[in-house]
This record gives sequence, structure tokens and C-alpha cells, in this order.
Amino acid sequence: MRYIIQTIGCQMNICQSDEISKELNSKGLIKVLDRESADIIILNTCSVRAQAEQKAFSFLGRVCDLKQKNEAVKIIVIGCMAQRMKSKIKKRFKQVDLIIGTDRETPEIVNQILQLININNEVESPVEFLDLNTNNEVSKFVTITKGCSNYCSYCVVPFVRGKERARDFDEIIEECRNFSKQGAREVILLGQNVNSYNFNGFNFVDLLKEVSKISSIKRISFMTNHPKDLTLDLIQTIASFDKISKHVHLPLQSGSDEILKKMNRNYTLAHYKNLISLLRQNIKNISITTDVIVGFPSETDEDFLKTLETIKEIAFDGLYVFKYSPRPNTLAATFIDDVSQEKKKERLAIILKESNDISQKIVAGMVNTKQTVLITAFNGRSLEGQTETGRKVFMEGGRENIGKLCSVFITSAKINSLFGEICNEI
Ligand code: SF4
Repeated sequence: MRYIIQTIGCQMNICQSDEISKELNSKGLIKVLDRESADIIILNTCSVRAQAEQKAFSFLGRVCDLKQKNEAVKIIVIGCMAQRMKSKIKKRFKQVDLIIGTDRETPEIVNQILQLININNEVESPVEFLDLNTNNEVSKFVTITKGCSNYCSYCVVPFVRGKERARDFDEIIEECRNFSKQGAREVILLGQNVNSYNFNGFNFVDLLKEVSKISSIKRISFMTNHPKDLTLDLIQTIASFDKISKHVHLPLQSGSDEILKKMNRNYTLAHYKNLISLLRQNIKNISITTDVIVGFPSETDEDFLKTLETIKEIAFDGLYVFKYSPRPNTLAATFIDDVSQEKKKERLAIILKESNDISQKIVAGMVNTKQTVLITAFNGRSLEGQTETGRKVFMEGGRENIGKLCSVFITSAKINSLFGEICNEI
């Protein structure tokens, strides 16, 4: 049987889809890329933004059309939307066979899928975390926490993914070791808020230090961070361990203290800027990326200008900007959504332009420098890798270089990509 798994949303969803794929592959199912040739269509959904939900609805519309031509096709919906909108999905898309919310862990989801297609499954225990399987063999995702307890006023995650649960410390280390034995050279530690990790007194710094002892792991990356939990101890740990990635994704969301308060972010702009100074003082060549929301309820032109000024001042290496849209159950959904769509669009475009200009300057400044690059894949034409600050680099060379950590001379740059020549292995 052939299946396709379409994933919308964050790294956590990508990670879960990888887990499911691995299990289905082990049962002899074949993963395909086009939905027309699939017997099973799985959609892993996201509720964080209205746009993600619209994307899921339009995908479901298309696959339900396919099912009208071939009734044997099975359609399965999982993830945050499945949790939040089960009855709406059922009502609108009668052809969907199975809807499984986020209150079910991966082994149970796999079980239900296999039962639907009458395949016997031997996964017995409700193990919360499974080995993951990313598309390349060099970099592996490792989930360290699930859910979130922060309740930012605009965010649906605590309602659909539950409160934060930390995974067993030893189990994480064991999984990293196993990946390294299978050839992985990078682990990417995942959680909605990795720096609040705490399992029986072991915190995120303890975890980073322990993972860094695995000699064949050459890079440890992590995401996402919350400014209220980023400690000096963590900053100094990132600085002192060569193998810890020098890229920190630190969502700002707004440059206005008024708006940050309404967002329930639990930090002020001054605190955020202080963290940026600490990161830059302590970590040479640190790359900092961020998320920003424009058009949050009551955001005035003045609030927006504060965000814009902050972006100019900090000069982020990269930025994701989103137009605010109310999410059900959240506190912000009770606020009046009083910024017009035109204003939101306008503000988004201004921030995007500013951020692209900054990013281009940063990338151009990397030309004629040497960067430490972990080579992760061969795309048929060139090698692909990432600098220790998370920038993508394309290089000439053969597959034998995959998995190597190399010094690469950067010869040219395009908007978000670098091109370079391998100098030597490190
Ligand atoms: S930290 Fe805030 S924005 Fe991030 S997942 Fe948790 S509630 Fe949502």
C-alpha cells in the first residue's frame, strides 16, 4: 500500500510525521509524493494561524474529490486542527475516514491507521517518543518537550497540544547516541520552548552538555526559545561548546511593551534587548532570528513603529512575520480585532522589506569568508550544508562529503543562500 503524508505547520509536526512514516515504512507501506498514486492520504494539520487551517481545508477539498473517483482511498486527518475542529471537519468533509486529535500519542495514531487498513500492528506500549526519521541521514530531530504552558494570549498551542511535558533525560541521550551510531552527525533538539526543559532537576544546559559528550555528533541545534527562559548560563554554554549551533531563534513578537503585555509574553522590550546584547557579547558570530506578529488587537501606528525600530536596531539575521488572526479559545480572541486587514498587510510588507534588506547585507558580508559547514545532502547537482549559524550553503563535490564538517570558502551569495568551495575537513 502506498501512502502520502502532507504536513502543515511547525517542526514539531514535521517531526511527528517523520515518526509516523518510520512506523508505516516498517510495516511495509510505501511512501509516495503524489496524492494521485496514494492509497492512504494523511494530513497533519496546524491551528496556529488561520492561513494554515485554510491550507488544510483546501487540501482536504482536493483529496475528497480524488476519493469520489476512487472510493478505496483512505483519508486521515491528524494534528492540531483534528483536535480543535473534529466535528467541523467531519461535517464538511464526509469522505474523511479518520480524525485523530493531539490527545493521542504517535504509537496510538499509527495503531489506528493500521487498523483502518487492516494491518496488524505490534506496537504495544504507549511510548510517548519514537525514533525519528528526517529526510537526510545526517541531521535528526529529537523531541525533548511536548506542549506548552505559557499561554501567550494569541496562541492555540496549549489548548491543542496540552501543557508542557519534558521527556526523560536518559531517553533523549540514548536516542541521540542511537542516531549517532546510525550515521547522524547533527541532532536538532525540538520543543515549543526548549530552554524551559526540566526533567527531575536536569535542565536544558545539562542536556546540551550531555549530548555534546557524544563524540560523533558534530553539531547540536535547537528550537524554539522563549526570551523569559533564556539564561546567562545557557548563553555561556552555547559560547563554550564548539559543537552547539551558534543560531538562536528568539521570538520577539512585538517591540511595544503595551502589546507584549497584552500578548502575555512575560518580558519587556528592555529585557529582550538585554538578551540580545548578552548573546552578542558572549557568542562570536551569533545568528539571531525572530518571529513578529503585526496587527495584534489595539496595535497603534506608534506600537508598530516601535516594532519596526527594534527590527532595524537589532538587525536580525532572519525574521518570520505574521498578520494577527484570532484563534479560538485564546484570550486574544476575546479582544476586538480592530486593526484592519489593509493595515495588517501594509505593516507586514514594511517589515518584510526591512528584514530582507538587512538579511541581504548580512549574507553579502559573508562572501570571501571561511565558514564551518556541516554537509548534509546531495541534491543531484550540488552538495548542501549549513553554517554553524544556520545558513544554507551549496558546494560542488561528491556524495562522499556528506556528514563531514568542513571549512568552506564562501564565493557568492543570493537572498538566503550561500555558495562556496570546500577547503578542508575539520
Ligand atoms: S510560548 Fe507562547 S507562542 Fe510559543 S507555543 Fe507557547 S503559548 Fe504558543
